[in-house]
Amino acid sequence: MTDARALAAAYLKQQRLLGGDSVVIGSPAPEPVTTLPPVSPSAHPPAGISFDPPASDLFATDPLQQAHSLADVAALVAGCVKCKLCSGRTKTVPGEGLATARLVVVGEGPGKTEDETGRPFVGRAGELLTKILEAIKLPRDQVFICNVVKCRPPENRLPQYDEIAACVPYLHRQIELIKPKVILAMGGTAAQTLLSTKQSLGSLRNQVHRFRGIPLVVTYHPAALLRNPNWKRPTWDDVRIAARLLEN
Ligand code: SF4
Repeated sequence: MTDARALAAAYLKQQRLLGGDSVVIGSPAPEPVTTLPPVSPSAHPPAGISFDPPASDLFATDPLQQAHSLADVAALVAGCVKCKLCSGRTKTVPGEGLATARLVVVGEGPGKTEDETGRPFVGRAGELLTKILEAIKLPRDQVFICNVVKCRPPENRLPQYDEIAACVPYLHRQIELIKPKVILAMGGTAAQTLLSTKQSLGSLRNQVHRFRGIPLVVTYHPAALLRNPNWKRPTWDDVRIAARLLEN
């Protein structure tokens, strides 16, 4: 080994011992760095900004997105077998009322009479709802009334998570088509579903929320009012909030 090679070997050994980068002898020369062309400011979104979906119909194969009227939605509901509630139903209960309603009332799910008739909010709870609406000078036929699930849960139990998840796109599409001025969510299931929350009804009522930009008021379900008349007063307070929003 020449003096120069011995010197170089000693230097590299010392570098290794000091923790320096390893040296690869005989590796190819690095590629020259090429300069990338400038990127147009509109080519990529800045960090944290999301783009809307493309204008083309991304969900063209989804029949619900192709439902252009409440009757179209009702027809899809009539043939729906997306959850286990289909097996026990007599009739589907898609909802009823004006397609141009300023107020949409959303309840939980059909009960026995609703299941038999195919109409929402009939029976004693329905009569009470009709009175509540009349008290704010809204005839029942001027609003749209529906439920979160469109088939009756057995024994009037609460709809389960998977049933709500399967059914709620129908409700979303109905609201999308009607474009109401105000939504009145009656009962915890309607409120928690539309607001995607687990908060109690008591903590959600007496204030104005938003569902996709639409003011939403939460109050007790008429069936609960029949069981507990003490809730009539707070319900009236909530309904008056909805009435004021409709006036604006
Ligand atoms: S409850 Fe809704 S998702 Fe379930 S079968 Fe009835 S319409 Fe379909």
